[in-house]
Parts: sequence; structure tokens; C-alpha cells
Amino acid sequence: MRIETQCLHEGYTPKNGEPRVVPIVQSTTYCFDSTEHIAQLFDMPTEYMYSRFANPTCDAVEKKIAALEGGVGAMLTSSGQAASTIYGGTINLFGVTLKKLGIECIWVDGDASVEELQKAFKPNTKAVFGETIANPALSVCDIEKLATFAHANHVPFIIDNTFATPILCRPFEWGADIVTHSTTKYMDGHALQVGGVIVDGGKFDWNAANEVSQEYEGFDGSKGKFADFINPDESYHGVEYTKAFGPMAYIIKARMQFIRDFGCYPSAHSAFLLNLGLETLAVRMKQYCVNAKRVAQYFKDNDKILSVSYPALSGDKYHELSKKYLPLGSSGVISFSIKGGRSAAVRFMDSLKLASNVVHVADIRTCVLHPASATHRQLSEEQLVAAGIDGGLIRFSCGLESVDDILADIKQALEKV
Ligand SMILES: *Cc1c(COP(=O)(O)O)cnc(C)c1O
Repeated sequence: MRIETQCLHEGYTPKNGEPRVVPIVQSTTYCFDSTEHIAQLFDMPTEYMYSRFANPTCDAVEKKIAALEGGVGAMLTSSGQAASTIYGGTINLFGVTLKKLGIECIWVDGDASVEELQKAFKPNTKAVFGETIANPALSVCDIEKLATFAHANHVPFIIDNTFATPILCRPFEWGADIVTHSTTKYMDGHALQVGGVIVDGGKFDWNAANEVSQEYEGFDGSKGKFADFINPDESYHGVEYTKAFGPMAYIIKARMQFIRDFGCYPSAHSAFLLNLGLETLAVRMKQYCVNAKRVAQYFKDNDKILSVSYPALSGDKYHELSKKYLPLGSSGVISFSIKGGRSAAVRFMDSLKLASNVVHVADIRTCVLHPASATHRQLSEEQLVAAGIDGGLIRFSCGLESVDDILADIKQALEKV
């Protein structure tokens, strides 16, 4: 199946007499004939038993997303944030919250050379993380470079593919190991519900990576960076993930340990709504790229605009990377800086009639956001500069209205500035 077909048919195939549409299984639990059967499930959860770990509706959507990304398995989470993702929220997660949990994150410029990356890499570094298209600076990640760098250091490369979606970029094909998404954005697409997903590419060799990192010692005295994948899990009657699950070790461990313990699994109804968005994802993504390219060009040609970031536009700093990784286009998201700084930005945004002011992005309706006063408000001045954000910066999320109506709205708002 081509990806357009996968959007509609992967994850759920009704048998004779079954519903055409994936049913919402709105049940917390599942019935079994004996206590013995349930006891076995606690040793090895091979069937649905409780909807904090797995649910048939969520499962169908997980299978669809794994297929779209070309991974071996996926797990939905109750938000993009829970799927662990350089986005304002991610900066706080990595820089503040994870630090309190004893996990240090080292920030490196995505455009850094391999020598500079190597200097930042520490003996205890366990993973490299990036975003396909960073929000809101709209830099494009050199996935192949970062994956090669991570693998040379025997750690996985994890990438947040939220803005690109698998329609515009499939990071596994460039060597990424784990893909995360905020499904709240284009995947859902209709601003209905918050959600996330983690997809496992199934190719990272946890055994080999653990073998070469025997000098690393875990807080429990275990040897090697990925000992948890290899040593028996006492909380699951000694299951050994790589031995028991092979290429699916990561995603099954994520479900059996993390979702079990942290409880951030979505409801069946949320998964059902997400599936509706996924069904039209391919059609929508292609049209976002067409609309946004016209709007980005309009901003670029307008003398009230200081600068425009849209990777698919020729002349953009990331145009070459965009051609390589995002051949169909760089989504509907455009960042631009208006002359006159913060006050001009606010005046422009408040004058828009069709585009709405929302704390959201990647919606089917055109929307705008002022990062310096909203999503990135908690960042220091230095962090704002590092994230490429100035007072005049506006994140413009081009929707699927007629592009002529979107342009007319921009024109009348710019006239008020
Ligand atoms: C929105 C977003 C997140 C966080 O996802 P939520 O669903 O809001 O929790 C993470 N990464 C990126 C790139 C995002 O745009």
C-alpha cells in the first residue's frame, strides 16, 4: 500500500459482518474465564487486560501510525509532551524537570559540525534528540548526519517528527531509531484533542550498544547504558526485553514499564478521533504545503516584513536540507518577523479577521501565535535568542481555507500596521 492508502486502511481490517469503521471500545477492562488466565497476563501481557496499557481502538491507531512511519510498533500517549519531546515545552522538560530527576541535557546547535557534536557528547550520554522541523524557528534537522553521529557513539537517535508527519518525512529511512509526535497537531488536525505517539524503528541494537558501554554504571550498579533492556525486569517476573521481544524490545518495554507506571495512556474515544484525522492526513499535508508556500512568498515580497522562515522557499537557510528531507514541502507552518518588533506584531495579529489567535498550531483553520508572549514566555532572553525568537516574530500556521482568502486577510491586517 502507498502511504495515501495506508492512511485509510492500516490498523483495522473488518472481518465478515464487522463494522466498517474502527469501533470505540469504551471499556476499562476485559473479561476472562479464570484467575489463572489473568495471572498469566501479569507475567506476559499478550491480550488486552486493562485500558491503562492497551485498548483495541488505541491499538488500531498505533498500528496505523507504525505503518505510516515504517516502524515495528507504536504506543499512543495522552499528550505530545508525554511522548517526550526543543519546542518551548520540551525546553522546560529537558532543562528543568528532567534535571530534577537526575537527567542532564546538553544543548547543541542543530547546524553544529560533527567535531562540535563530538565535543558535547559525554561518556554517560544515552541518546541524541532532535526535531525534523523545529518549532518555531523552522530549522530543518540533518537527520542522516545526526543519526550517523549517534550510531558512531553507540546511542539511539530520537526525533520529534510532529510538523513533518510521515507524509512529508519518514525519519527511519534516514537512520533515526525512535520517532515521537504530538498527535495534537497535523495528525489530529482539527484541534479536537491533545495526544502523542512514540514509534519504534526496531533497528537499534541495544545488546551491542550495551556491550561497548560496560564502563557506564547505572544507579543500581548495573553495567552498560542499556542494561534495562537486557537484564531481567524484576517488576515483570524477570522478563528480558531484548531476548523476549527482539526488534520490538523498546516499544514493548515502554508499554510494560512506563505506561504501566506513569499512566499517561489516552482513551479509546481520543484514539477514535485521532484516527479520523489520520484518514485524511495525506490529502491535507499536500495542500498545506501548497497554501503555505504562496503565503510565505507573499510575506517575503512584502516590505513590512523583516524576514521569513519557510524551508521550502528557495533562498531559505534550510532550503537544501528541506529539498533532501521534505521533498513535498515543509508543512503549513511559517515563521516571520515583522518590522517594528513586538508592538507591530501585536497590532498585526489583533487585526486579523479570518486567522485566529490561539495557543495552537497545525490546525485545519489558519491560526497565529506570538511565541515571545505565549509558548516561549518562560524562556530567558538568551534562550529566546538561541531558539531564534525575537519580539516581532509571529508563527503563522496556514490552514486549508482558500489561499486567496488567507492572503486577503493578511493584506488588510498589514495595512493597519
Ligand atoms: C505541541 C508540540 C509538542 C507537545 O505536544 P502536546 O500534544 O501539546 O503535549 C511537542 N513537540 C512539538 C514539536 C510540538 O509542536
